[in-house]
Amino acid sequence: MQIKAAVVAARSAPFVIETLELAKPRTDELIVRVVASGMCQTDLHGRDGYYAVTSYPAVFGHEGAGVVHAVGSAVCEFAPGDHVVMSYPWCGECAHCRRQRLNYCLNARNLKNKGTRADGSMLLAQNGAPVYGAFFQQSSFGTFALTQARYAIKVRGDAPLDLIGPLACSGQTGAGAVLNVLKPQAGESLAVFGAGAVGLSALMAAKIAGCTPLVAVDVHTHRLELARELGATDTIDAKRCGDVAAEIRKVSGGGVLYAVDTSAVPKALREAIESLMPGGTCVLLGSARAGTEAAFEMPFLQQGRVVRGVAQGDSVPREFIPYLIDLMLAGKFPLEKMVTFYDLAEINRAAAESSAGIAIKPVLRMPAN
Ligand SMILES: [Zn+2]
Ligand SMILES: [Zn+2]
Repeated sequence: MQIKAAVVAARSAPFVIETLELAKPRTDELIVRVVASGMCQTDLHGRDGYYAVTSYPAVFGHEGAGVVHAVGSAVCEFAPGDHVVMSYPWCGECAHCRRQRLNYCLNARNLKNKGTRADGSMLLAQNGAPVYGAFFQQSSFGTFALTQARYAIKVRGDAPLDLIGPLACSGQTGAGAVLNVLKPQAGESLAVFGAGAVGLSALMAAKIAGCTPLVAVDVHTHRLELARELGATDTIDAKRCGDVAAEIRKVSGGGVLYAVDTSAVPKALREAIESLMPGGTCVLLGSARAGTEAAFEMPFLQQGRVVRGVAQGDSVPREFIPYLIDLMLAGKFPLEKMVTFYDLAEINRAAAESSAGIAIKPVLRMPAN
């Protein structure tokens, strides 16, 4: 079928809206009419050639939400008309997948970034010439997307499809790191470094858990204001504060039990580690470029401090995304406060305003096909 999608012709080239041909679904696949898709830093990393396996021309997008349009012959759990979110891909066969640790799938890199199905086949073409799609096995920056049924999550019919796409990546990454990994108890202290979409999702989850003090660190005033509105008890502007870790130790009475780094900036990661009390845990969620190194003092870890990375919030999407939607519709996870909407045709402006820190979470609304 014909679709419209945002194509990147070559590394770092702008997005251009083109008419493409989308493959027919195989027996275990779905075609989703995309209503809206969040934009994540990862899409721009794909555009800019950060992943060695990516080829061009390519279509990105991995936070798609929409309506099931067609199902393969073996798909019985979905029917046309179902409302769905598409989340990250996994192989189902590696050691981690066999134990339900889908977010650490050993074959994830190719499934996310290679631009083809697992068997190397292509999903998109323009005038007969192949176009790489299958970004996170979905490529949601288009009017329709093809994915495997197992990566789709059915959502309640009253969930706003133009808003919930970001739960598929940034939302579950931030909220999952807190609720699935750190599991703070009410009254425990937590600091978030970077008040972007991932950081604010972590902050909203920490507020749900009852964390206090709840500290947000960023370099943009408007993000810190939003962090306060979403539940931060203290905010620190890292551009103005000479010693962020000392300031956190001051407001928390000796350091926080949990620190969440979403910045992917080595200096911020060090500050996050140094803001921990003994026995505290720092999780790293930001996606730094290959080759990025960070330093900290070794004796600091001796007092039981833990530093670990977390991917996709250790979430099992079919359990966690419907849970986040319930929280959202109950007013406890107000994702809408961080979203800026753009039409698909404005995708380059969305990308620029995201990179400049103006738009916290751009969401692209798809046109009628
Ligand atoms: Zn796997
Ligand atoms: Zn993402």
